[in-house]
Amino acid sequence: MELKIKTKTSEYPIIINDSFKGLPEAFERVSLTGRKLCIISDSNVAPIYLDEVKKLLEGRFLKVVSYVFEAGENSKNLDVISDFYDFFAREQLDRRSVLVALGGGVTGDMTGFAAATYMRGIPFVQVPTTLLAQVDSSVGGKTGVDYKGNKNMVGAFYQPWFVYINTSTLNTLPPREFSAGMAEAVKHGYIIDKDYLYYIMVNRQAIKALDPKALSKVVYGSCKCKAYVVSKDEKETGLREILNFGHTFGHAVETICGFRLIHGECVAIGMTAALYFSMQRGRITQRDMKAAQEILTYFDLPVDVKDISTEKVYEQMFYDKKTKDNKINIVTLDKIGSAYTEKDPGEEEIMAALGYIVK
Ligand code: ADP
Ligand code: ZN
Repeated sequence: MELKIKTKTSEYPIIINDSFKGLPEAFERVSLTGRKLCIISDSNVAPIYLDEVKKLLEGRFLKVVSYVFEAGENSKNLDVISDFYDFFAREQLDRRSVLVALGGGVTGDMTGFAAATYMRGIPFVQVPTTLLAQVDSSVGGKTGVDYKGNKNMVGAFYQPWFVYINTSTLNTLPPREFSAGMAEAVKHGYIIDKDYLYYIMVNRQAIKALDPKALSKVVYGSCKCKAYVVSKDEKETGLREILNFGHTFGHAVETICGFRLIHGECVAIGMTAALYFSMQRGRITQRDMKAAQEILTYFDLPVDVKDISTEKVYEQMFYDKKTKDNKINIVTLDKIGSAYTEKDPGEEEIMAALGYIVK
């Protein structure tokens, strides 16, 4: 399966497959072969997939080299990027060389940033191996690193030449990471595409069992949603805001108890709050609310959180990057499959939604 991402500055395909076999051809199609290629991967992904990918690509390129960094968000900083540059220089990569990000969101963000900045920009390709990266972070052109504890503080919008998704890599992904990706997939359904949401609900068993056909539909459905939003708003000035559904609540929860929850789990909790917010306004029904909690719970995602103070979460919401002029904006639904931003709704409604998720 395949779809096209169109932005003002570029156009590129997302190729969805259940193996790596189509990868060489994908490079041929965009005429990226015959040069030096550097695969960047992390210490968890490299032992499983690096050899296979390398073997497939060797022979089509002048030289294929690889750089493996230590897995984890802790590596997402300028020191490790500087290690990348040293490696590129040693291997004499030039403006024609191409980088491949083989791994999850961390690998994609870092490789994209290195590609955007090395020699003022060299081609790069995304090969995401987590569900989160496949349905979310590999599409949209956001690249970057954390800086002094601030997530994604330094970065650039930089689009890949193509995205190649092999859904069978999800077989080795830790179940908790799979669930986290499902939170964003469900989010896409709620904010953009009702039919896609229902597909997930109806085929939940096949998806959880990692059935290849079901997985490709999920990845395709999400990429299509993201493609739609990103093509209309590449640099996050308007429409793209709706992708923050569940994130204003979720980021605050993540900051306060991030040590025990991962991003997708916080998004599930945040979405529950955002859906409750919509229900308070009469936009969705109690039945919708129940169905949402059911589908999130089915994918082993939390829909509430214990032992934190609603006041603290509320205060934290003011520190969100996207909070403007000290006003909290909540992305909410006007109906299932359609979202908008509610500007500065006031403390009472927000606290009620927080009361619903803090148990
Ligand atoms: P994200 O969740 O944003 O994609 P990471 O890049 O940190 O974040 O990936 C999450 C974790 O899963 C990391 O520890 C990474 O090494 C690991 N990982 C990524 N892809 C796979 C895979 N296909 N199989 C096993 N582990 C993987
Ligand atoms: Zn997210």
